[in-house]
Amino acid sequence: MVEIVQGDITAMKVDAIVNAANPSLLGGGGVDGAIHRAAGPRLKAECAMVGGCPTGSAKLTEGYDLPARFVIHAVGPVWRGGDAGEDELLASCYRNVLRLAQEHRIDSIAFPSISTGAYGFPIERACGIALSEIFRALDEGSRLKQIYCVCFSDADFEVYERILATFGE
Ligand code: ADP
Repeated sequence: MVEIVQGDITAMKVDAIVNAANPSLLGGGGVDGAIHRAAGPRLKAECAMVGGCPTGSAKLTEGYDLPARFVIHAVGPVWRGGDAGEDELLASCYRNVLRLAQEHRIDSIAFPSISTGAYGFPIERACGIALSEIFRALDEGSRLKQIYCVCFSDADFEVYERILATFGE
């Protein structure tokens, strides 16, 4: 049910992929750039209409040219050393994505490792928060049947596999 995979999230054949966006929602580097390239220009046009997203929140759009029907744009915190509310903001991102998935009757979803690229959040700490929120949602009756955490690098994949094992799956 919760599966760690390595690769490019834009290729995932799921109901929704999650984007690690910035507050403007107008595109950026990393996974955000890859998603906008793969989805085509209509994604940027819809994001411009949405008008931004505060840190810790998430907004849903269509997936356009992606295999995924929807993109859920989540804005993670920039890492500022750990005492600026980063943990709670990252948890809030995952909770908001999981709430939108429930509201839009999404059965399968793929997450990138939000905030751990350009935003600098330490990978082990971010992974623990991500998996805690995912398992909490499942415990609370989420309709999600398939949840993928898509890691881009070997090192991130190993961290996710190791921490997933501590959740007893
Ligand atoms: P943030 O600004 O939230 O840190 P980044 O896009 O810089 O977002 O990085 C988030 C994670 O997404 C990083 O682990 C990065 O390696 C990964 N990533 C980059 N491109 C892709 C992709 N095409 N598919 C999956 N993950 C990706």
